[in-house]
Amino acid sequence: MSESPSSLYIHIPFCISKCAYCDFFSLPKGNKVPDDYIDALCKEIIYRITVLKIDSLKTIYIGGGTPSLLSKNQFKKIFSAIKSSCNLSPSAEITVEVNPDDVTEELLDGLWDCGVNRLSCGIQSMNDAALKRACRRADSTTNRKALSLIKEKWRGDTSYDLISGLPGDDEKSLLAGLEEIVSYKPSHISLYSLTIEEKTPFGSQLNEGLFDYDFDFADKLWLSGRDFLESQDYKWYEVSNFCREGKECAHNLVYWTHGGYAGCGSAACGTVYNEDGSGQRWTNTTNVEDYISFWEQVTEPLAEAPSLPQDLEIIDKENSEFEFFMMGLRKLQGIKARDYESIFGERLPEKFLRLFEDWEKKGLCVKRAGQDGDEIYAMSREGMLYLNRFNMELL
Ligand code: SF4
Repeated sequence: MSESPSSLYIHIPFCISKCAYCDFFSLPKGNKVPDDYIDALCKEIIYRITVLKIDSLKTIYIGGGTPSLLSKNQFKKIFSAIKSSCNLSPSAEITVEVNPDDVTEELLDGLWDCGVNRLSCGIQSMNDAALKRACRRADSTTNRKALSLIKEKWRGDTSYDLISGLPGDDEKSLLAGLEEIVSYKPSHISLYSLTIEEKTPFGSQLNEGLFDYDFDFADKLWLSGRDFLESQDYKWYEVSNFCREGKECAHNLVYWTHGGYAGCGSAACGTVYNEDGSGQRWTNTTNVEDYISFWEQVTEPLAEAPSLPQDLEIIDKENSEFEFFMMGLRKLQGIKARDYESIFGERLPEKFLRLFEDWEKKGLCVKRAGQDGDEIYAMSREGMLYLNRFNMELL
């Protein structure tokens, strides 16, 4: 392993109900997260930190699912497991995803007391028709209450998630929603264009012909949303992400810059890289009962890799290189030639350079010099909209 990761992702795979567009792994489980899941999770956290020799964490992201269903005590347990096994960098970014209907003063205080300094809140829309079609728990009134409480009481950074192109949404309602969100002055906004995945309620409804969906219209909506956010001084820095200057999500930047990270919890992934750029990725079982019963029978701290309830994938150098481009080009800033060289020990491959040059001629890629004289390769603003096609051609 070349370097111990300094980022940790924790997955809470429970939701009260399922949203119609959601493809994330989560189980409907009432409004409480079982204590035995948290106990298992804490054991895994200690195990991963120990085995990966993590000395200090720079980013932690608790996502789901719905982490805001955790009690104050459960959050405390998770943070004591982390702090008992490694240091937290004084400037660590610690994010927790929250659902608007769970936002209370008590939750905000509890998170702050645990050291959480960034909230990511899934507002998704301010249009009641769209929220209803998407089976969101929160309506616009609940969203508004959460937005006001966070503005009034929360002392850290905030990111709001929104989706453009939900059935029932149109340009006017999307822009009105964004205008309202911006008025709360979050430091970060994620604006996703709706994708309809097959194994979601929207996917089945579309297959059954229960609604028509105009994908071109959805893309146009997203572009209007992007232009609006930029006009409000939010920097477009990644495919779906916007921020105030210096407020990029440090945790996600690790994924986009080929960084290693530990992942804990049922369905979580973690990735570590070797000296030559190749790596290993584990994906924990999605069977929550198996996950809990495995960690329940662990009584001693595990020093060796036992047969964990996980799938292991070897990322050979070729795949790792492809991931470097696929993830790195998601950033408007693109990738640096020297970063590639320091990870893989060789110059940028001919195949990439040829494709890049071809796209550059069409105005879809841009090459520029960095301040340190390094060469930077990026998608142009127009090219960013065709990133998937670029990746397919690179494969
Ligand atoms: S609350 Fe979040 S994770 Fe849960 S179903 Fe809805 S979108 Fe998915």
